[in-house]
Amino acid sequence: EGIWRLSKLAVSVQNDPGKEFLGVSDGLLQEIAKAIKFPVASMLPPEAFSVIRKSFDARKMLKEAKFVYTVDMDVSELINLEPRTRDFISDLEPRVGLIEHVPRQRVLGDIISVIQDCKKVEGERLPKDGGLDGYSSDAGAHKYVASRKPKIAVVGSGPSGLFASLVLAELGADVTLIERGQPVERRGRDIGALMVRRILELESNFCFGEGGAGTWSDGKLVTRIGRNNDSVMAVMKTLVHFGAPENILIDGKPHLGTDRLVPLLRNFRHHLQDLNVSIKFGTRVDDLIIKDGHVVGVKVSDSRDQLKLDCHKLGFDAVILAVGHSARDIYRMLLSHNIDLVQKDFAVGLRIEHPQELINSVQYSGLGTEVHRGRGKVPVADYKVVSYVSQEDGKTPSNSVSTSRSCYSFCMCPGGQVVLTSTGPSELCINGMSFSRRASKWANAALVVTVSTQDFDALNFHGPLAGVDFQREFEQRAAVMGGGDFVVPVQKVTDFLDKKLSVTSLPPSSYRLGVKAAKLHELFPMTITDALRHSVSVFDKELPGFISNEALLHGVETRTSSPVQIPRSSETYESMSLKGLYPIGEGAGYAGGIVSAAVDGMLAGFAVAKRYDLFLDGI
Ligand code: FAD
Repeated sequence: EGIWRLSKLAVSVQNDPGKEFLGVSDGLLQEIAKAIKFPVASMLPPEAFSVIRKSFDARKMLKEAKFVYTVDMDVSELINLEPRTRDFISDLEPRVGLIEHVPRQRVLGDIISVIQDCKKVEGERLPKDGGLDGYSSDAGAHKYVASRKPKIAVVGSGPSGLFASLVLAELGADVTLIERGQPVERRGRDIGALMVRRILELESNFCFGEGGAGTWSDGKLVTRIGRNNDSVMAVMKTLVHFGAPENILIDGKPHLGTDRLVPLLRNFRHHLQDLNVSIKFGTRVDDLIIKDGHVVGVKVSDSRDQLKLDCHKLGFDAVILAVGHSARDIYRMLLSHNIDLVQKDFAVGLRIEHPQELINSVQYSGLGTEVHRGRGKVPVADYKVVSYVSQEDGKTPSNSVSTSRSCYSFCMCPGGQVVLTSTGPSELCINGMSFSRRASKWANAALVVTVSTQDFDALNFHGPLAGVDFQREFEQRAAVMGGGDFVVPVQKVTDFLDKKLSVTSLPPSSYRLGVKAAKLHELFPMTITDALRHSVSVFDKELPGFISNEALLHGVETRTSSPVQIPRSSETYESMSLKGLYPIGEGAGYAGGIVSAAVDGMLAGFAVAKRYDLFLDGI
């Protein structure tokens, strides 16, 4: 009875319809039959099986590239459809990691349907509209009165802010979503002006604007917080609800690409507006209004009005801070109110770019021409490399900071391009993006090294914002090395290893605003550079050809995750030092990517809903 999960079913590329096909093919039925020792594969009814995960595996030790499946087998359906399978199924023995009996799971749908189903079952328990208006700054106004909907400000429309807004609005709160940047349509034009005319809009760029930092990105939806957990699946299904393709639910390495993210965000916005969420684009939160140790509102200004002539006060019961890690002004503002901020380790480094063909041939070498080219049935090749660098490996000189570190590839974008993620004219930092087809001829990835307090101390940066100062220092050095105008300093990987500079025969780069040969080996402190140099050599052993004349390092990658954490209660999500403030997402130090930020926003939304008694027991 029930569901059996069959894992590690490998179908060769020749026998598989290809990366786009997510159903049960004849090739997969053959493998299922082998796994359950059923003699005639063609007698197995495909309807009894559902594909849970499909990944492509072309590791070197394999004789041939394969698609690897996880499949759920519904026994009751199987027996109903094909009575002759009964004996085979009753003899089925669990095998760890291969065949496991799984309890019939509560299938968590997208957040919207879950909440709506709960509402149907439990009836309308939400406070009705009416009662008091929004808060003024009058004394005592912050005491929430349950006779009306709670007024919640969500600051930032990145994944965490969007999902927090969605949950709260679905549950009946009066939500205002405040975003310093522009809606995706206008943001697209601002980014176009940056790419073509070098005009950096300080409030509408690769970091700021609708959808947050991950909108003009590769849209990778991989996460380290457990792919199959209910929260992640609820986020993924919600993305499908707003227009993401269904294969993100199954693909082992799901990604969207900018071209799919933009319409998805538009649908998300329309849904929020249908729920009466008031969305204020081009509106920057500059300060919090605090009364008796409780947030009672925010001060906002028109983000395009640099002189801040027009500053408004808005009253709220609670403020959800979902500002991402590039809102450095917000960190300073929080400190001015004595709100706790603590340093957090993060990682810095350079972005390496290779021709995609080279990465395909490194990863798929010896696996047949079609696979080798990374075309047709199989995905373009990616990679993920990690190395642990001890003090000896790094050959750190005795007078500088010496420590053991990790060096790893991060945010790899196959078929993508290197883009500018600066939010100020005197800083230069980069990241990667791609379109859904990942069809460009470049493959880029950050190569980053972990940094912590002792690295900040060594440069005389102290206090909660030492990591921010550390980031800014290298962003400014990179801007100077590039010579201005957002030209990125680059160095051949071979020169970086030899600590020399070739100004001729630079390989081409996907970066659109120009590159300039520079001594990137002099940009970071020696200990970081040595860790990078050592690791690049290690990576070349794993991926022969990684060190190549065609590989170009770009500077500088600093905003890998937040350098700061804003302490909060793990249960209520409320700041430990200010009532009514809910710091969430990457900027608060609780997420490290699109999916984890969305999950954090969703869970924070539920926590705030519970605080205001909007919570539905069935969820
Ligand atoms: P953010 O997405 O940073 O959103 C914060 C929002 O708050 C912004 O829209 C900002 O404008 C707004 N804001 C800030 N201050 C204020 C203020 N004072 N007033 C009003 N609004 C404010 N992650 C992945 O998982 N996969 C990827 O492929 C990937 N690629 C990336 C590519 C690029 C180029 C970049 C920059 C990031 C990428 N990331 C990727 C990281 C990912 O985007 C972030 O982890 C994620 O967006 C964090 O979500 P968030 O909601 O916490 O914050």
